[in-house]
Amino acid sequence: MEKRIYRPLLGCIADDFTGASDLANNLVRAGMRTIQSIGVPEDSQTLNTDAIVISLKSRTISSYEAIKQSLQAYEWLKAQGVEQFYFKYCSTFDSTPQGNIGPVTEALMDAIYGKCKGFTIVCPAFPEAKRTIFNGHLFVGNELLSESGMRNHPLTPMTDANLVRVMQAQTHRIVGLVNYASVRAGPTEIRARFHALQNEGITIAVVDVTCNQDLESIASAIADIPLVTAGSGLAIGLPNNWRIHGLLDLNESADILPPASGYQAVISGSCSQASNAQVLDFCQRGLPTFAIDPLADVSQVNMAQQAIAWAKTHLKNGPILIYATTQPDNLKSIQQKLGAIHASELVEKILTEIAMGLVEVGVRQLVIAGGETSGAIVQALGIKQMIIGPQIDPGVPWMSAISPCSKDKVIHLALKSGNFGSIDFFTKSFTQLSNLYHD
Ligand code: ADP
Repeated sequence: MEKRIYRPLLGCIADDFTGASDLANNLVRAGMRTIQSIGVPEDSQTLNTDAIVISLKSRTISSYEAIKQSLQAYEWLKAQGVEQFYFKYCSTFDSTPQGNIGPVTEALMDAIYGKCKGFTIVCPAFPEAKRTIFNGHLFVGNELLSESGMRNHPLTPMTDANLVRVMQAQTHRIVGLVNYASVRAGPTEIRARFHALQNEGITIAVVDVTCNQDLESIASAIADIPLVTAGSGLAIGLPNNWRIHGLLDLNESADILPPASGYQAVISGSCSQASNAQVLDFCQRGLPTFAIDPLADVSQVNMAQQAIAWAKTHLKNGPILIYATTQPDNLKSIQQKLGAIHASELVEKILTEIAMGLVEVGVRQLVIAGGETSGAIVQALGIKQMIIGPQIDPGVPWMSAISPCSKDKVIHLALKSGNFGSIDFFTKSFTQLSNLYHD
């Protein structure tokens, strides 16, 4: 059957930025061409893509604001004619007792089905990342969620692993469970369980998942449900629902990006363990590096301008690295001198100025390390949309975008959240990108 190109099939609303990329990456791996939008797009446009992921930053804002933004995203997606909506949250169900997962789910259900009507699932599981659900209890590796590091999270401490209870505390709708026995029995039994729950007045069901096969069965069972709520894992099984109806190709080309050009640079504003090791690896290869010292900037030295001038002399020889990345003891001492918030803001300001300067002088392949750092730079570059390309390492794909700073030419971006990526990530990502077009 001919490929359907006139409207996206799946519309996703993600409650944070790197989680949106994670979901988009899984959709692309499963064969759906995917565009990630930064916030709700301002205008309506015809998008030649299979899936759209709208990234919000709604995880810890007020429920009122989270609902408002999520409904705006839903309305926009609906106007694109999408068939199914996917509310994406973290695989550790990061939320406060007030929300925002429950309130946003309820608001989306009310908008899609009408008050108290309809049905959806809750499924943060992602077995590949060791997030499983058994009898409604979420496990992180071998530990219950409530016994994992998530119990001490500064913003969303998760002290109860029972997702039925956690979700019930966040919504007026009645929450139930489809347990592993039904899930193991396959899609027909799962659907039968959905109907049984609905007959009891239950409109939201937590679903057990212990392996990828479970995700595939659930994905098949929810083919006709207009709204699903889940982590990024469920995305692996969804595309098959359209594929079996001939609406989606056996797509070898979901991750195709336009050819890369221009200079190559890495900007690292992450101080996590993996980023520190990746910076060291790049330095040890004898490649050009420039370190940002936030304390030096205090003495009125314009570090961003210095870094850009330095970069201009090195870019033509291959990838460069500009980094604020530092070890925990030095970070602590910087934070003590400047205050943690001020230090972060200062570093982000310097790095965004550098990123804009680099793009202005012709950098078109940019690797950014750090979740907050990536968010700040992508926003500063005025990027509204990214096309998702091939995965470099789990959770980190190459993406392409257009920025006013690049005179509307394509930039290739890899946004690496702190602890992701192999030790040679900063060099291998460029090698992978150039191999894509020279095989
Ligand atoms: P990660 O994904 O590793 O958490 P983020 O970019 O989200 O990385 O967060 C790292 C934060 O640390 C950023 O706000 C960044 O500006 C800040 N930062 C990076 N380097 C330094 C430094 N040398 N001194 C102080 N703050 C820093």
